[in-house]
This record gives sequence, C-alpha cells and structure tokens, in this order.
Amino acid sequence: MASAYELIDHEFDVVVVGAGGAGLRATLGMAEQGFNTACVTKLFPTRSHTVAAQGGIAASLGNMGPDSWQWHMYDTVKGSDWLGDNDAMEYLAREAPQAVYELEHYGVPFSRTEAGQIYQRPFGGHMQNYGEGPPVQRTCAAADRTGHAILHTLYGQSVKNNAQFFIEYFALDLIMSEDGVCQGIIAWKLDDGTLHRFRAKLVVLATGGYGRSYFSATSAHSCTGDGNGMVARAGLPLQDMEFVQFHPTGIYGAGVLITEGARGEGGYLTNSEGERFMERYAPNAKDLASRDVVSRCMTMEIREGRGVGPNKDHIFLHLDHLDPKVLHERLPGITESARIFAGVDLTREPIPVLPTVHYNMGGIPTNYFGEVLDPRRGGADAVVPGLMAVGEAGCASVHGANRLGSNSLIDLVVFGRAASIRAGEVMDRDAAVPSINADQDDKILARFDRLRNANGGAPTADVRDSMQRIMQEDAAVFRTGETLQSGVERVSELYKSLKDLKVHDRSMIWNSDLVETFELENLMANSIATVVSAEARTESRGAHAREDYPDRDDTNWRKHTLSYIDDSGAVTLDYRPVHVDPLSDGIDLAKIAPKARVY
Ligand SMILES: Cc1cc2nc3c(=O)[nH]c(=O)nc-3n(C[C@H](O)[C@H](O)[C@H](O)COP(=O)(O)OP(=O)(O)OC[C@H]3O[C@@H](n4cnc5c(N)ncnc54)[C@H](O)[C@@H]3O)c2cc1C
Repeated sequence: MASAYELIDHEFDVVVVGAGGAGLRATLGMAEQGFNTACVTKLFPTRSHTVAAQGGIAASLGNMGPDSWQWHMYDTVKGSDWLGDNDAMEYLAREAPQAVYELEHYGVPFSRTEAGQIYQRPFGGHMQNYGEGPPVQRTCAAADRTGHAILHTLYGQSVKNNAQFFIEYFALDLIMSEDGVCQGIIAWKLDDGTLHRFRAKLVVLATGGYGRSYFSATSAHSCTGDGNGMVARAGLPLQDMEFVQFHPTGIYGAGVLITEGARGEGGYLTNSEGERFMERYAPNAKDLASRDVVSRCMTMEIREGRGVGPNKDHIFLHLDHLDPKVLHERLPGITESARIFAGVDLTREPIPVLPTVHYNMGGIPTNYFGEVLDPRRGGADAVVPGLMAVGEAGCASVHGANRLGSNSLIDLVVFGRAASIRAGEVMDRDAAVPSINADQDDKILARFDRLRNANGGAPTADVRDSMQRIMQEDAAVFRTGETLQSGVERVSELYKSLKDLKVHDRSMIWNSDLVETFELENLMANSIATVVSAEARTESRGAHAREDYPDRDDTNWRKHTLSYIDDSGAVTLDYRPVHVDPLSDGIDLAKIAPKARVY
C-alpha cells in the first residue's frame, strides 16, 4: 500500500518543474533573485524539446530594417486571431528585445550581420507597418539551431548561479492544501527508484506541450503534457485546448520539422502543377502567411487533387533555387534532416512536406506574471497561490488561437523571466516552507502504487496508439461537428481503459513502461480537453477551422475556453473573457481591434 513507500524530503523556496527554455530561464531568474531554487526534470536539461527549435526567436531589434515592438504586438494580436490577451501580448512584444539582449550577454552565439549585430530573418506572419508592408526581418537566429544554443547557454548560467538540478526525476503530482494552495510536488527518481517530496513556497510548471497526443507530431516523444495533467488532477482548469497548431512543413512520412526559416530564406511551396499556390491565397505574405493559413491552403490543394507524389497526398517545398552557400550557413540542420529523413539533396530537389502537429496554444491559464488562474477561486483572474506556469505548458495567453513562428522561444524567455521578477516582488522571503501534508502524500502514492501494479487488459502502448490515431483523425486541420463528436465519443470511451491498464514491469528502477503509463494518463487528460473544447466552439478561429462554422464569431466566441476534468474523464466547460485592455497608452486601440484576418 501507499505507506510502503518512503519519501525523501527536500525544502526549497522555489521548485521549477522542467528544464526546457522556459524552465531554465525561470530557474536562472529565481536563482538570481537569491531564492533557494530546485529544477526538477525528467530529461537531462539539454535534451528538452527546446533543443530542437530551429528557426529563431522573435524580437523587434530592427537590426536589418525598420521594426517596432508595436508592429510585433500587432502581428501577434492578428496571428492570435484576436483571442490572445492584449496585456500579455503587449508585455511580450515590449520586453522581447531586452530578453534577447540578455540571452546575448549570457552567451548565446547568435548568427551575425556584416556589421556584427544579431542576424534576423523573416518568419510567417511577421510584417512591416501593422501588416500593411512586406515581411519584416524580426526572427533572431543562431543558424537553424537557435533552441540548441539557447538551452545550452541557460543551463550553464543556471548552474553558475547555484540552482540545484534534480535530473531524471519524474514529477508525479502537485501537493495541494485543502484550501487550494500549491505546496510542492512529489517526484520519482528514475535511476534508483526512490521517491522524493519537494516542499516549496512556489512551484513553477514548465513541462512543455502535448504534441504526442497525436500520431504525427514534430515534437519529441517526451512532449506528453505532464504539467497539464498534474493541474487537471488538482481540479484546476486548462485553457483554450482546442487550438492545436499544425506546422505546414513536417517531412512527409517522418514528421520531422523543416523550419519556417526555410521559407524565410526564400523557400516556397508548389503543388502537382508546379504552381506556387500560396500567391493565390495570400497575395501579400505568400509563403510567409501565418501557419494555420498555410496549413489549410496545403490541405485544400491536396483535397482538390493537386497534391504531389504517387498518392497526390503531399506538397513540395523548394529550396533548390537558393545559393548552396545560404543553405550551408543558415540552414545546415534542415539540410541534414532532409537528407536523412527524406533522402533528398536540398540543392537539387524539393522536399516532400505535409502539415504536422507542432504546438499547443492552450495550456494552464496564467496572467502575464506567470501566476496560474482559476476562476472557481473567485473571479475570472483569481490566482492559485504558490503555483506558476510558463512556456508551452502555460497559456498567458499570447498566442490565442494561433501562434506565430519564433514567438514561442521569446515567450519562454520573456515569461520565464517575468515569473522570477514577480516572485522577487511578491514572495515572502521569511515565510516558512509549507509543512507536511500527509493526506495528499497518501493520495499521490496510492495512485503511484495502483499504476505500478496495474494488471488489467489494456497495455499502455495500445491505448496510446488508439488515442493518437483518434486525435489525428477527428481533431485535424479541418474539423466538423461530426468528426468532433466522434472524437469526443471515442476518446471518452478510451478513457475508461485507464482503469484497466496493463503495466508489465513492476520494478522501481528505469521502469520505462511505468513512466509511459504516467505520461499516457497525462496525454489522455490533454486529449479529452482538446476534443470537448473543440466540439463546443461553433466558429472558426486561428487553428480551429470548422467546415460547418467557417466564420469567426466575435460576438459569441471571443472568449477563452476553460476545461475541468474529473477522474472519470468527464469534462466541464467554462469560459473567461479575453483581456482587451492593453497595459500602456502607447497602443492605438483602433489598430488592434478585431477585423478580417487576411495576409
Ligand atoms: C521541432 C521544433 C522546432 C521548433 N522551432 C521553434 C522555433 O524556431 N522558434 C520558436 O519560437 N519555437 C519553436 N518551436 C516551439 C518551441 O521550441 C517550444 O514550444 C518550446 O521549446 C517549449 O519549451 P518549454 O520550455 O515550454 O518545454 P520543453 O522544451 O518541451 O521542456 C519541457 C521540460 O519539462 C520537463 N518535464 C516534462 N514533464 C516532466 C515531468 N513529469 N517531470 C519532470 N520534468 C518534466 C522535461 O524534462 C523538459 O525539461 C519548435 C518546436 C519544435 C517541436
């Protein structure tokens, strides 16, 4: 039984769960604030999915032509299809340059212009002059390995600032007090099987996205939405889960990403007639329209019989017209990916590509300080004490219904930093660490024990496979009431098999079967929230494109969806208003008011 497990105790001011870009920036910031800080991570920090980010990080430095944070904010507002919170989007765009200069000073080896400044490339949806002008060069890049450079730098800086790392510790659940205050986490140390209780005044969830709810995703297999699952089990809501981003250019078959930076450097898409079809759909931005737009256009071309390949089921991305020197210097990573995963020599042939699940706009609702919100505590913006969320796990909401390329990396560092600034301002440095909460410990350990000894008829891998296929089929680029109802029914039915799981390995050490079972439970919470929220939203906005409701409906649907999930997988929906007021008077409100979204 539960009591058979012993807990090893730790006390910290702050425990950050996750060591991707968001977790490391928060860890570093908290340590710089003088807090005794732990970073708990299931992966070695530099293996987090952020390492795979290729194209770059958006900030209006204006190194390669005119730019301003107001333009950046406008593009983000429009990219979000007017679902993002204006205060958070203003904060993001305004703080972005400072956050990038800090990265530079911490040691990130950015590519350089002739004049020695940070190199910036064009990216989808980032335009000049409030969307009126041509694409702007705003995305700061370290070749096409920007995430790799950022992650390694932030890890080094965190270690230098004496943050304590707990590596290959799997966080199981939040410890919540009876009155809903977060008091810490319990984690399982994977290499020796010990269980650890981290009590802390503040927990920061930075556990990344849940791309692996789907069959074909650019995200790592570790992107299983664990923090979202922990939050759901604590009775807290998830927000805007219906908005799942498909990236236009996953390599056909393999799902591996070809960065949007490829189109930023001049790449373009063609159909079976050799036509550059994006010129037809988005005359101004063309191949650099927003991701949801490009993904839909590709899907329409394929549906109308103009796909390429023997089955006419994908699209070509051309880079063969570019100077091989550009490919070598600016896109070395994808040159290699194309060779390995598509057998294509980029200098001679186009790459076969297909829209592939890439990013989760939804997640744990927060304000622009990173504090987690739960309206059930009293008011749309009520804060959950002791809990923050940053990065892809969080929903501030700066991406609304659709994220612009290169706006995630900047989200990680701006809000990782914001969380630590906020903690520095509001946390009581003299307060004691919360005392032991035996009831919660028992509950968490009972769940651990139940899954460890699960001996039913449904092996984890089979349930996961079914879930991924259902999500891929029923919650895709285009959705209808019918596919979404089918999704709700099929995921709800599958949810029941969580009570009948079969885990083959009972050991405590390196038990990957059990790790995957915890991850599956987390993924299922994310999946059910996604389909239920999507079925309810009877409009099309950003990445949520419904064929039965093709228009955006600002009167009824300019609001955030909240989903609360109970143990049986039943979802209760609620809504919160979008924050329309910006932070400062530097914003021309008429400019950011909703209008038709064309590129
Ligand atoms: C292939 C690819 C390319 C991309 N390129 C770009 C780009 O060029 N520009 C851009 O802006 N965005 C890009 N994105 C998006 C962006 O990289 C991600 O959104 C971002 O890196 C997520 O960072 P994160 O810190 O939130 O989470 P992650 O980097 O995913 O890190 C999650 C962390 O949480 C830890 N963790 C998770 N669960 C647990 C648990 N149960 N217990 C303990 N630890 C846990 C993991 O160990 C890990 O350290 C790209 C994404 C992909 C997939």
